[in-house]
Amino acid sequence: NVESIGSSVVPIVNRLQDIFAPFGGLSKITLPQVAVIGSQSSGKSSVLEALVGRDFLPRGSDICTRRPLVLQLEHRSIRSENDDDREWGEFLHLPRKRFYDFSAIRREIQAETEREAGVNRGVSDKQIRLKISSPNVLNITLVDLPGLTKVPVGDQPTDIEARIRTMIVSYIKHETCIILAVSPANSDLATSDALQMARTADPAGMRTIGVITKLDIMDRGTDARKFLLGKVVPLRLGYIGVVNRSQEDIDQNRSIAEALAYEENFFRNRPVYHGLSDRCGIPQLAKKLNQILEEHIRAVLPDLKAELKSQMVSVVKELRTYGEVNESKAEQGTILLNILTKFCEAFSSRVDGKNQDMSTT
Ligand code: GDP
Ligand code: MG
Repeated sequence: NVESIGSSVVPIVNRLQDIFAPFGGLSKITLPQVAVIGSQSSGKSSVLEALVGRDFLPRGSDICTRRPLVLQLEHRSIRSENDDDREWGEFLHLPRKRFYDFSAIRREIQAETEREAGVNRGVSDKQIRLKISSPNVLNITLVDLPGLTKVPVGDQPTDIEARIRTMIVSYIKHETCIILAVSPANSDLATSDALQMARTADPAGMRTIGVITKLDIMDRGTDARKFLLGKVVPLRLGYIGVVNRSQEDIDQNRSIAEALAYEENFFRNRPVYHGLSDRCGIPQLAKKLNQILEEHIRAVLPDLKAELKSQMVSVVKELRTYGEVNESKAEQGTILLNILTKFCEAFSSRVDGKNQDMSTT
């Protein structure tokens, strides 16, 4: 069973949503956005796809991602056996059309890219918005971005590099955006576009995770140990090294499951990466993201509690204006608040426990 993004956070978020359900309009828990940045063909789309665990993004050796793709994962509760438990995608530009076939989603992303940015490698900052509704995801937004290029090709304007930079900055400048800075292992990390841009947007490195791709195609006799240990470019949240599917794997339609099995085997058979297992592989990247999301939830819990309390007070007040206080309603509110308080305490101690674990390793 693969740990995909949010898998450990889904139960927590669902539990919280159950607590808040009786209050209807109460604010939903908003999780930070995650954006992938890096130079063209560094493996950004591949990383995102592996994290989501579904095959649906255009990938390839030429420029494939030519418009920002804003991917909203949306959790759908299954309440009865009759509920549809399938996953589907829906584009903002094609409202009410449900895509159950994920390869059809990829074709639509390609077609919609061409509608706006033409067929000759043009790039546009106009978003494609895709919602994926599923019982197995949490509410989070992921952004796939065009890669940095230097030399204009095809229909690209002469200032293509500056334009793409501006586009990327417009996403990663937000304090709530988690940056996955993707750099291929077969080029020098010190010259990485991704790390350089991430540092400008997030100088303290509080929300940047380094992702090193293509560990399988490094020059013979070299390895990524130094990169992963942060000895080349230090990064507060550290690095994860991954092996995605190669172009040949893509052409042969290798599945994500096969790719993950290959990746696991790759690291197992390379003694140089032994001892670094917490920094190797897509499942570790998902784990790291989950930890960050859990900490975020912990940070917003007090606000949620305060909001719940004030809603309760106003409900009781409103009831009083009707001349009688409905004690049972007020009691229900108190019970809910107690549940939430207990939940917050239990959750915080769980996360604290984890942090202690991490600091001792
Ligand atoms: P993007 O332009 O950054 O989104 O990169 P893509 O995800 O489209 O990947 C670009 C090319 O690199 C594709 O042909 C991928 O198959 C290949 N690729 C990406 N990651 C890896 C990797 O870890 N190993 C190998 N061998 N190829 C990779
Ligand atoms: Mg891409």
